[in-house]
Amino acid sequence: MINYSAPLKDMKFVLENIIDYNELVKLQPFEDATLDMVEAVLGEGGKFFSGVIDPLRMSGDQEMSVLENGQVRTPKGFKEAYQQYVEGGWNGLASDPEYGGSGLPFVLACATAEMAGSANVAFSLCPMLSQGAVEAISAHGTDEQKVKYLEKVITGEWTGAMCLTEPQAGSDVGALKTKAEPVGDGTYRISGQKIFITYGDHDMADNIIHLVLARLPDAPAGSKGISLFIVPKIMVNDDGSLGNRNDMRAVSLEHKMGIHASPTCVMSYGDNGECIGYLIGEENKGMRCMFTMMNHARLNVGIQGLSTAELAYQQAYAYAMDRVQGRTAGEAGTIIDHADVRRMLMLIKSQTEAARALCYLNAKAIDVAHHATDKEERWWSQGLADLLTPLSKAWCTDLGVEAASLAVQIHGGMGYIEETGVAQTLRDARIAPIYEGTNGIQALDLVGRKLGQDEGEHWKAMFTRIEKLANDLPPAGDLGLVAGALKSALQHTRQATDWMMAERGKNMQAVAAGATEYLRMFAVTVGGYLLAVGAKAAEAGLEENGADAEYLKARITMARFYAEQVLPQVSALAQQVTRGEESLYAISNEALAVQG
Ligand SMILES: Cc1cc2nc3c(=O)[nH]c(=O)nc-3n(C[C@H](O)[C@H](O)[C@H](O)COP(=O)(O)OP(=O)(O)OC[C@H]3O[C@@H](n4cnc5c(N)ncnc54)[C@H](O)[C@@H]3O)c2cc1C
Repeated sequence: MINYSAPLKDMKFVLENIIDYNELVKLQPFEDATLDMVEAVLGEGGKFFSGVIDPLRMSGDQEMSVLENGQVRTPKGFKEAYQQYVEGGWNGLASDPEYGGSGLPFVLACATAEMAGSANVAFSLCPMLSQGAVEAISAHGTDEQKVKYLEKVITGEWTGAMCLTEPQAGSDVGALKTKAEPVGDGTYRISGQKIFITYGDHDMADNIIHLVLARLPDAPAGSKGISLFIVPKIMVNDDGSLGNRNDMRAVSLEHKMGIHASPTCVMSYGDNGECIGYLIGEENKGMRCMFTMMNHARLNVGIQGLSTAELAYQQAYAYAMDRVQGRTAGEAGTIIDHADVRRMLMLIKSQTEAARALCYLNAKAIDVAHHATDKEERWWSQGLADLLTPLSKAWCTDLGVEAASLAVQIHGGMGYIEETGVAQTLRDARIAPIYEGTNGIQALDLVGRKLGQDEGEHWKAMFTRIEKLANDLPPAGDLGLVAGALKSALQHTRQATDWMMAERGKNMQAVAAGATEYLRMFAVTVGGYLLAVGAKAAEAGLEENGADAEYLKARITMARFYAEQVLPQVSALAQQVTRGEESLYAISNEALAVQG
């Protein structure tokens, strides 16, 4: 098993040269958050996550979280590591300083979340879920609720859980049945069962604030009739001290394919009719609150995909540099010099770099949307963030799985054996395309909502940006190759988008049939654009002073490789996208059955 090492130089390159981090420093709250400061924080993060959190990755997988005497126990070392995480101030990096946060840019919090996810994804889920609670309470909570709960969750002293799913209500959240009955004193009695609740119970913090979606007695059917409630594990007195235990418990833990250290709980609320919840936001407006809670979570899960791809790369690279097998072009005779192994490594590396740039750009757009003084700029950035979020979530998590699978392949038979740790990477990766809205649902969100938002202003602007860059790149050399591939990918993406926009008005089934491949082609094109921005900056750096030439040349080669080996997918995807639904439904459900 190899130790994770934070890719500080790559992170800094993306921040500085691809997403233009310095624009954020012009915003008032971030005046002091200069690139130097960001670099210092990332440096400390690198030490913390590889030194304290990474060593628990494999032991946590083997030991797993367990339910003992009605209480969840996390694996050895998790509780202490979490304490260090809280004391280090990692939890509230981007949160409101009024409630104990550090008020730094969200993009910086995302970069540290990337480190956490690579070091130990099962551990990282606990703070990630807390973040959802922070966002929901910040946006929709009363002042009293903020005073009571927010600061403790922001600092990490308490954690949060997001409680949506029930056996009959997965993607269709509106089908949930958990009940909330008004008690008459402003509180509600919650009763029902939730499944798959990440860190619904654990022993790492004194309290867990559950955000539970439930239905009032007279609520309209479906998603119009759900409301969101704060349901603390331990009741909180008015002076902020902890009171009695609320009537809720973890009934069992799921046995999973991966993320074994993360307790996935079946939660029961109100077995004794005494589970108290507090409404957050308005009655029957829980869907709105839920979207607030899930929006950043979707980007965070995308970052989890990026984290996995980075870890997979580090594992694959180390093995490829060490394993001697067959006759190779290189002197050392290790498998890294076999063309096919190199192809796989470069596929992981180049797409990981593109994914990092996409996620950080997405996070920066969220920062600008929240903090710009100009209304137009805020609107504009929110639209960009809305457009990019399904791309980050779905493409990066698919990439995490593909990268982990390629890394197993690079290990040969040893990849299938647990001791190298790469099998765990693949097992841990598989959940990310499923939770926080399956990737299929992300694709429907893109074509059904995001393409139509603001009459398509945001995707049109993105395409114009790509076109401008492709035209600005030199016509020859590596960058010329990149420009040509980018222009071709853009042309196909534009045509497919026109097709989508035309079909949206007449045949949603055809749109749905092409949605997943459309999301992929859009993301692959944006990824190619972002790598090209980096390659252009690298070229300028080389011309300027030639310092760090090897690194800068590698950035250019990476963009070229992506242009040659990844961007061509877009033209094939365009064909798949625009085929419509006919062949999907030309066979009956019965004819699809095994014909014995
Ligand atoms: C390890 C783990 C942790 C989790 N953590 C949490 C948590 O903390 N809190 C929480 O509330 N939930 C959590 N979940 C639940 C998770 O969010 C759901 O599993 C997910 O939303 C999918 O729901 P489902 O499992 O019911 O699948 P289904 O909704 O039954 O989906 C099955 C398939 O059908 C497709 N599908 C469904 N509806 C549509 C549609 N309308 N159009 C097209 N395709 C569709 C899906 O894309 C999928 O491929 C967790 C799940 C797991 C496994």
